[in-house]
Amino acid sequence: MRILGIEGTAWAASAAVFETDDPDALRSGTGRTPDPAANHVFIESDPYQPDSGGIHPREAAEHMGTAIPEVVETALAHAAERHDGDGPVVDGVAFSRGPGLGPCLRIVGTAARSVAQTLDVPLLGVNHMVAHLEIGRYQSGFDSPVCLNASGANAHLLGYHNGRYRVLGETMDTGVGNAIDKFTRHVGWTHPGGPKVEEAAKGGDYVELPYVVKGMDFSFSGIMSAAKDEADAGTPVPDICAGLQETIFAMLTEVAERALSLTGTDELVLGGGVGQNARLREMLAEMCDQRGAKFHAPEPRFLRDNAGMIAVLGARMLAAGDTLAVEKSTVDPNFRPDQVEVTWRGADES
Ligand code: ATP
Repeated sequence: MRILGIEGTAWAASAAVFETDDPDALRSGTGRTPDPAANHVFIESDPYQPDSGGIHPREAAEHMGTAIPEVVETALAHAAERHDGDGPVVDGVAFSRGPGLGPCLRIVGTAARSVAQTLDVPLLGVNHMVAHLEIGRYQSGFDSPVCLNASGANAHLLGYHNGRYRVLGETMDTGVGNAIDKFTRHVGWTHPGGPKVEEAAKGGDYVELPYVVKGMDFSFSGIMSAAKDEADAGTPVPDICAGLQETIFAMLTEVAERALSLTGTDELVLGGGVGQNARLREMLAEMCDQRGAKFHAPEPRFLRDNAGMIAVLGARMLAAGDTLAVEKSTVDPNFRPDQVEVTWRGADES
């Protein structure tokens, strides 16, 4: 089975071709530790870079309009090279259906529909946040992990129960990366701010900031206001960066630990672009170590927005017969992970 994946929910356009000769293993997805990089072709374009401020949806969509056809064409050329000449070059086209920016998603959806119809192969509508979880589950071979998705526009904990990934806890306001980016814009840094905060924090001394966890949910807006106030008051920015990282990541680690405890699970996977931060991974790994749980963080290219994870989940969905009719394939900017009926896990799994 060979699947084309297309991703372009916000600012990074990519296409991937994922090949597997064992669709049955994909259906159960348990007890294996395969390496998707080994059977993946992965094409990323340079991400959209705003001249100033944050991501502008119209500009991002204009970027997708150029970048998506380029990455898809290159990925299909790779698929053609690996093709033995019988049947279509790919067996299905998986695309990010949401959540994300509507104007960007519509370009991804249009590209996916046109390739699927041209090749006469099934369309696979993938939830981007579930794909973040599934790439970690697939790589780790974990059975039923809790997942912390820490990305630009999202921050939540997911756990599987009765055929769906349930949202166990989530941000009450902005996504974690967007919150960090808002602070860095305030101090005049260009997008994305997360890597710059990580670098600056190495030379900073911790500054105390508000810590807001309520049960399984958490909030970033008060921390961001306090961080901006500190900057305006002349506190060195590296010190604020150190405080931001320690505070925000401690909040996420606390809620991740509570999710493990409440579900009785001893497996945690990490997803999302903020997961590229070494300090966050260190805190989560230490927490898991202390409670005897296993932790897996995919390598950076499978953490940030990427078509690889879309292709892998698309392959699972195709193996389970979970295809999408073109006339029902509208994109959904607010597509929540708990809306997805999980068809690719065994019926006996709870
Ligand atoms: P989503 O999956 O919610 O659609 P997204 O489209 O914004 O997210 P991602 O690639 O998952 O994209 O994440 C991008 C975010 O990750 C940005 O906010 C960026 O600042 C943040 N980020 C990237 N690297 C780091 C890092 N090293 N430390 C902290 N944050 C980081």
